[in-house]
Amino acid sequence: MCGIVGISGETNVANEIYDSLLMLQHRGQDAAGMVVCNETGELNSRKSMGYVRDVFQQSHMNKLNGNYGIGHVRYPTAGGAGKEFSQPMYVNSPYGISLAHNGNLTNSRTLTKELFHDEMRRLNTDSDSEVLLNIFAQELGKHREINPTPEHVFEAVTETHKRCDGAYAVIALITGFGILAFRDTNGIRPLSLGIRKGKTRDEYMVASEDASFAPQGFTKDRDIAPGEAVFINRDGTLFSKQCAKVFQRRPCIFEYVYFSRPDSTIDEISVHKSRMRMGSKLADNINKSNPNHDIDVVIPIPDSSTTAALQLAVDLEIPYREGFVKNRYIGRTFIMPYQEERKKSVRRKLNILDLEFRGKNVLLVDDSIVRGTTSKKIIEMAKEAGARKVYFASAAPAIKYQNLYGIDMPATSELIASNKTDGEVAEEIGADWLIYQTLEDLIETVHAGNPEIQEFETSIFTGEYITPLAENYLEELEASRLDKVKHQREKDFLQDGED
Ligand code: AMP
Repeated sequence: MCGIVGISGETNVANEIYDSLLMLQHRGQDAAGMVVCNETGELNSRKSMGYVRDVFQQSHMNKLNGNYGIGHVRYPTAGGAGKEFSQPMYVNSPYGISLAHNGNLTNSRTLTKELFHDEMRRLNTDSDSEVLLNIFAQELGKHREINPTPEHVFEAVTETHKRCDGAYAVIALITGFGILAFRDTNGIRPLSLGIRKGKTRDEYMVASEDASFAPQGFTKDRDIAPGEAVFINRDGTLFSKQCAKVFQRRPCIFEYVYFSRPDSTIDEISVHKSRMRMGSKLADNINKSNPNHDIDVVIPIPDSSTTAALQLAVDLEIPYREGFVKNRYIGRTFIMPYQEERKKSVRRKLNILDLEFRGKNVLLVDDSIVRGTTSKKIIEMAKEAGARKVYFASAAPAIKYQNLYGIDMPATSELIASNKTDGEVAEEIGADWLIYQTLEDLIETVHAGNPEIQEFETSIFTGEYITPLAENYLEELEASRLDKVKHQREKDFLQDGED
């Protein structure tokens, strides 16, 4: 997953982009980058591997002068790891375009071939973001204008929509001309527009999550619509246009479950409130399926499940207790086989407060179960701490299929629920009772926030993908995501040396 931001201001925007990237750090911790442009059309950039605070030092910030710019935080989903994958990515023709992308294209291989054979563009990486950048550049270049107008830019976005399949929220900087933001025709990944009164004009921020607006004094104007493009020229004038003939708002439901910050509102749905409703639905489900349950205490697995867990406890009228203390300063573990690293990482990250477990029937709540590593380890810890019975509730339904739209998920075959019944998953993780949210209930909890949205992107639960997929795409992605393949990629990267 990735986080993107763009700001058009009256004065230098680099510090505000930096602060906004910190607000989006949860969306990607592998690499970060920023490009800014000043009034004379000079570009300044910095990108590297690591957290935002590590990538940008004072010496870099001193050089990042510009009154409009874009930034990116990256977590690899489909492509490889390494500095050449960090964003914004740049292409020099036409105009010099820098691009930050959140999402994943499902026809990037076909497009790579077209770019090479028909358009004589050779790409440096297998990153779908580089594909997207070159497709957009190719389309914008077709106008052969020294000074592109907003209309030229919008026509290029229209053509990009026609060629690209998958999920893409994009912020691009066209050197000397301005900032462009657009969202795929389903609006799978989020993108919001914020506004602030400047001294002589309005200033704008576009970001993956609107939680980044308030700390910089911006207020939310609106969500960018699926298929829509917004262009803010170098003078700060905003133009917008619907660039797709066919579009429908179908946001990714997992943003509400796990990914987004609770203080964000996506497509007019508060993430916090939808998580509270997830807790209420779980409580209804528990009361209906087992009215005489013997749960003594509800304990969240921090952090993303706490909102749902608290509401669940309130509705069940059962005490809510913090039973795990999270260490927020854990970085990564040093080279270990992935699965071993994950198990160790759960124990390093979460310490247990035994007294909340001893002699009790506890209901643990997490937002989701992916591989089952966390839930299995946590249940083991709860039992060791003296819990009598350990029940487990997941605010999301069983995850059975890989994600194609920009969320870092394992291969389907590595998902614990991919080929198991709920009972088998319960047995595997050691739960005395496992309660999954139903998909109908999950959809209802999110839909309630904006009844105008008719459909959500729910493929990790159903296997029904809402965009066209290139031939063999699922099989190829599955193979590239297997633990052993990822691990080898990482080893190769480390052997090549990091900077
Ligand atoms: P697992 O241990 O593989 O079952 O993962 C479940 C835990 O991972 C839950 O506590 C979730 O909060 C968290 N989680 C869910 N989706 C993701 C994701 N895409 N990336 C990282 N962590 C996730």
